[in-house]
Amino acid sequence: MTKPLTMNISKPVKIFENTKKKIITPGHLFIISAPSGAGKTTLCKIVLDRFPDLLYSVSFTTRQPRQGETNGKDYNFITKEDFCSGIKKGMWAEWAEVHGNYYGTSAFFLKNTISEGKNLLIDIDVQGAAIMLRSYPDSVTIFIQPPSIDALRSRLKKRGTDSEETINNRMAAAEKEMEKKHLYHHTVMNDDLSKAVEELISIISLYIS
Ligand code: 5GP
Repeated sequence: MTKPLTMNISKPVKIFENTKKKIITPGHLFIISAPSGAGKTTLCKIVLDRFPDLLYSVSFTTRQPRQGETNGKDYNFITKEDFCSGIKKGMWAEWAEVHGNYYGTSAFFLKNTISEGKNLLIDIDVQGAAIMLRSYPDSVTIFIQPPSIDALRSRLKKRGTDSEETINNRMAAAEKEMEKKHLYHHTVMNDDLSKAVEELISIISLYIS
């Protein structure tokens, strides 16, 4: 059992502006966003192991798989054509163009999982989070913050999966995303991985056990 943190974590009030078509979810929907290289994937994996009843929404993307990524597990890798046809068919609960590639959340998976009262974790960008909150206003939003832009850049370089140009684009996007962090219910600083894990687990434990 993880010890709750001594820091003051409590259930916050809603922040993103909500509109019509609100869907009240019987389970909890956790939305995690972070700039590229902030360590979100590692954190999500640890959290998913810790909460066996928490499911993960595997996004669809047109970007190329990175080394070590598995189709259907990390992402569903699809062509641009299939993605665009999915837009026309209304297959995405939300979608966005991020760093020149398309990313989307399956409306079918989301609806089914939520209607079954299951808890779901989705990892999407800031634009996607805002869209999701319009339909699912009782979602819990969590922003993973890197210690600094320099730290992000060196993590991306170390990862070795992106070109210099891609890294520069991701850095520019990261600065914009970080300006939006105040819109999230919770922010987790990922300076020290074990501390960030503990904090994230404490936040999720506020809602599920
Ligand atoms: P990466 O290519 O580094 O895996 O992800 C790039 C960005 O796309 C990240 O900010 C990630 O959260 C976001 N992303 C991943 N899946 C989705 C999705 O289904 N929808 C949206 N809007 N963003 C996504």
